[in-house]
Amino acid sequence: MVHKKRDPRLEGAAMERIIQLHELAKGMKLSDPVLAKRYIQLSEKIAERMDITIPPRIKRSYCKNCGLPYDRDTRIRIKNGICTVACSNCGDIRRLPYKY
Ligand SMILES: [Zn+2]
Repeated sequence: MVHKKRDPRLEGAAMERIIQLHELAKGMKLSDPVLAKRYIQLSEKIAERMDITIPPRIKRSYCKNCGLPYDRDTRIRIKNGICTVACSNCGDIRRLPYKY
């Protein structure tokens, strides 16, 4: 094959792995933030290698700046249709359109 082959079964498995890694990272944030961060990075690498898009619901569940998952301490404010998320770890602020 000349073109990069896409295998739906492989992509499905990769997606499952990405979701799994995010679940692990979430549960690990407090006990081992370094490992949690590594899991997030790994999931991004898998997505890149497989050329798949991480679902927005997962992509929005962690901080782009420090790579740690958001949690209950994360401050979220909604104003004028804009959702402002402040990371409890590094203080990075993200603004997202509220409706999607
Ligand atoms: Zn952060």
